[in-house]
Amino acid sequence: MARIFNFSAGPAVLPEAVLQQAQAEMLDWHGSGMSVMEMSHRGKEFLAIAEKAEADLRELMNIPSHYKVLFMQGGAAGQFAMVPMNLLRGKKSADYINTGEWSKKAIKEAKIFAAVNVAASGEATNFTTVPPQNTWKLDSNAAYVHYTPNETIGGVEFGFIPETGNVPLVADMSSTILSRPVDVSRFGVIYGGAQKNMGQAGLTIVIVREDLMGQAMPGTPSIFDYRITADNGSMFNTPPTYAWYIAGLVFEWLKKNGGLKAMGEINRRKAEKLYAFIDASGGFYRNPVEQQSRSWMNIPFTLNDPALDEAFLKGAKAAGMIQLKGHRSVGGMRASIYNAMPESGIDALIAYMRDFMQRQGK
Ligand code: PMP
Repeated sequence: MARIFNFSAGPAVLPEAVLQQAQAEMLDWHGSGMSVMEMSHRGKEFLAIAEKAEADLRELMNIPSHYKVLFMQGGAAGQFAMVPMNLLRGKKSADYINTGEWSKKAIKEAKIFAAVNVAASGEATNFTTVPPQNTWKLDSNAAYVHYTPNETIGGVEFGFIPETGNVPLVADMSSTILSRPVDVSRFGVIYGGAQKNMGQAGLTIVIVREDLMGQAMPGTPSIFDYRITADNGSMFNTPPTYAWYIAGLVFEWLKKNGGLKAMGEINRRKAEKLYAFIDASGGFYRNPVEQQSRSWMNIPFTLNDPALDEAFLKGAKAAGMIQLKGHRSVGGMRASIYNAMPESGIDALIAYMRDFMQRQGK
């Protein structure tokens, strides 16, 4: 069996141990005689899987008891709409911080429902920085403040949690959740698609402070209503059972491997190694993001000569590394190095990048 180093931004690499466990349990989960895929979501077997996954996530993230954890569908993009539907609570406007492509998508969707105040934007630096909080124009009457702690395309990550006073803070953590410890009590809502750091596509995790639920805007479909979802144990309809199970296996794997503190240390080391190599390449490779806002999870970089892009990608593939092509909107390269990317994958990438550069006579 040949496993490749997969640098995809998502769906992304999963821990090999998780895949092996899923394989071993595929036909007969714990003596039940059936696959998790075949189970009733209301049967005792699946309920045990579901409850354990939630308990493990709560433990990993240290989620306070006055927060609900929802296992939803529709992806993070679905949350771009569900957040205003649920959190406007009779107000007319919300504050958004624009740090790049995913912020922009969240803003566009929110405008269907609300007056959006872009309280800060990284546009002036072409989204290579996080605007410092003291430059933000927050509105104390806003229903909430939305931001994107990690921009998956631009590779820009907040090094701080914004201070928003009494206005609930909402975070699209799709590409950074579980990458390090985070103080959940600072947030009103945290959401993210599972397909980067939590498992497979099809599942969206939403962590909501209880007092923010129950005031969805008139006309909100039941399936999008946080309160109804919570009251039904995320089973108002049939949930994505297999994706929920896989996320549970990822949470178990994280717990076995030291939890988020250990993950954070490994992630810092992995990212620092790659940035250090890029910065020392004399301009052959380049990452445009300011030092303190560089992502630990998604590292975009360009080659000095874009005419070499194709040869770089071809050589990478031949060396067992795929999905290094940058997002179609920005070009260049991008290495996504989520929790499940082993450190040996970073070492292999750096060795390949060094070799490629030397072959160009640099
Ligand atoms: N937000 C961020 C930060 C993302 O990286 C992505 C997916 N790449 C999305 C939102 C959209 O997620 P989904 O495809 O799950 O709707």
